[in-house]
Amino acid sequence: MLQAAMSATDAQRATAWLVEGESIVARVSVPSAAPRSQVRRLSLGSGLAGQVAADGLARRLGHGHGDDTTALGGAALAAPLRRGHGVLGVIVVERETSRPDFGTDDEQMLTSLAGPAGIAVDNVLLHREAQRLSVTDPLTGAGNLRHMTTTLAREVERSTRFDRPLSVLLLDLDHFKNVNDTYGHTVGDAVLRELARRLASVVREVDTVARYGGEEFVVVTPETDTLGAEHLAERICETVREEPFVVGDDVVVVTVSVGVASLPIHGTASGDLVRAADEGLYAAKRAGRDQWQVAPGGEVRVDR
Ligand code: GH3
Ligand code: MG
Ligand code: MG
Repeated sequence: MLQAAMSATDAQRATAWLVEGESIVARVSVPSAAPRSQVRRLSLGSGLAGQVAADGLARRLGHGHGDDTTALGGAALAAPLRRGHGVLGVIVVERETSRPDFGTDDEQMLTSLAGPAGIAVDNVLLHREAQRLSVTDPLTGAGNLRHMTTTLAREVERSTRFDRPLSVLLLDLDHFKNVNDTYGHTVGDAVLRELARRLASVVREVDTVARYGGEEFVVVTPETDTLGAEHLAERICETVREEPFVVGDDVVVVTVSVGVASLPIHGTASGDLVRAADEGLYAAKRAGRDQWQVAPGGEVRVDR
């Protein structure tokens, strides 16, 4: 799209800016090796792209415009990418200083290209959002069960093939029913959200946190053996225990129990790993809660 915009308007550079909340961000430029503008993020209403995003009107800047959100220093032209009546981004094309200013014909050309381009970008963004929602738990923003299942299956396969460690942690809030009974369900929900936030802050980028059930969460942690998973389990217990959960005026003290299982000693299939982690969790509950336990085993189980 940017290539087409550039050649249709005889420009030497084109940039797509996309609206993100109250800002607009330079996301792609062509040619990629060309100089970049200093400014890559603008508030709506400021700079060339920000102004076009704010009122949805195409703009031309002639020589000597002094707008530092462009890169070549020559003439610039910008047209909005539209989503219905709103603006989702801006295309900016630029010429080198030796070239003439853009004319009305260039503006019409860019505007007519920006129409279908806006629809295409809108479709991509909608598709991405739908994909994100399909793997997200709506209450906590953590992954949902489906996300956990697909991630774990993929990681089990990868770790098995390359003979790499992998661990699974299953955790469950202690006496959570009491929290609901004492403070109400809404406060309980807020505690679950805060728990998801704390979990996300103690895991690594490559780990996956998902809500497994009501007040149970799973962490899939690649490249991590039992010892590493024990450390993580300890950090999780600490991050919940250390600070009470503050919800409005309520100060809620909660703890969590964690079960740990690792590939391949506790199982070689996803289902077996989760089952083993659940056994570890059960052991942690029985031993008094607010602690972690490694799944029993490694030993061969005999089914009767
Ligand atoms: P234990 O230490 O044995 O885990 O005790 P517990 O009370 O946490 O266990 P139990 O399984 O008896 O209760 C789980 C509670 O979690 C009951 C249920 O109301 C609550 N719960 C499950 N999902 C949600 C939710 O989405 N929001 C809220 N607020 N509570 C939930
Ligand atoms: Mg439970
Ligand atoms: Mg519980």
